[in-house]
Amino acid sequence: MTTVPSLTLNNGATMPQLGYGVWQVPDDQAAEAVGTALRAGYRSIDTAAVYENERGTGQALAASGIDREELFVTTKVWNSDHGYDSALRAFDASLERLGLDYVDLYLIHWPVPSRGAYVDTYKAMEKIHADGRARSIGVSNFLPEHLERLMDATSVVPVLNQIELHPQLAQADARAFHVRHGIATEAWSPLGQGRGLLDLPQVAAVARKHGRTPAQVVLRWHLQLGNVVIPKSVTPSRIEENIDIFGFALDDDDLAAFASLDQGRRLGPDPAHFG
Ligand code: NAD
Repeated sequence: MTTVPSLTLNNGATMPQLGYGVWQVPDDQAAEAVGTALRAGYRSIDTAAVYENERGTGQALAASGIDREELFVTTKVWNSDHGYDSALRAFDASLERLGLDYVDLYLIHWPVPSRGAYVDTYKAMEKIHADGRARSIGVSNFLPEHLERLMDATSVVPVLNQIELHPQLAQADARAFHVRHGIATEAWSPLGQGRGLLDLPQVAAVARKHGRTPAQVVLRWHLQLGNVVIPKSVTPSRIEENIDIFGFALDDDDLAAFASLDQGRRLGPDPAHFG
């Protein structure tokens, strides 16, 4: 079983640098998939209210017998629950579905700037954090302008921003902004959703050179950039493959090959307009 190295967040908490994401895993399959991930050595699980699989995820956590302190559980407040009171209620419901009395990380899923409520939402999260029910709080899909506004209006700096990030969308500006403010970068769709990216000849060449798979070298690229990474698969062999990335390193030539793939191309929505 692999042990994943941890990163220290800006509040002193630690977080595994690699976790397991469960977007699009149906609730009735989540317990099995998360159970497989936990047996393979993953300790960080990324879910969200809108994924509708917090219950199955929580069942796997409970059934695993793993000490709660060794687990790192992230969930997120959905767009329809923005606002102070709504966010407090949404958090209670998430915690109840997960069967936990605290989460390690609670995130705003999208900023929904058209609604103008992410500051109030975050103030509710500051209260949840102060009450000890979320050990850390952060955001997802925030552009630097949203983070600036949030940090001006609130007092707890988000520990991380979870954004779409893969070699074809390397997000250099966002990463540099995060570094300047002590915010970790977490990559969603780190494998480019398994489409296209993993079939590129440049990725295949790096994989061949290291005797690894395309997914493994892409995940290794993330680690070497300093990203937290949360690949998803429901296939046990891939779940195991995706965590077996700590026994090799990319060199400068490999990193240059990856840098040539950046097209600034999103697979998901533009945070400036979504929600
Ligand atoms: P991903 O980049 O992790 O790709 C997942 C897909 O890649 C799988 O469905 C499978 O088809 C393929 N795959 C996985 N492992 C493979 C392997 N070893 N070899 C070949 N193919 C492989 O995409 P994702 O699920 O979109 O993102 C990962 C996680 O990020 C999600 O589960 C979720 O937790 C999070 N996420 C967050 C947001 C957000 O808005 N915050 C949005 C999307 C995803």
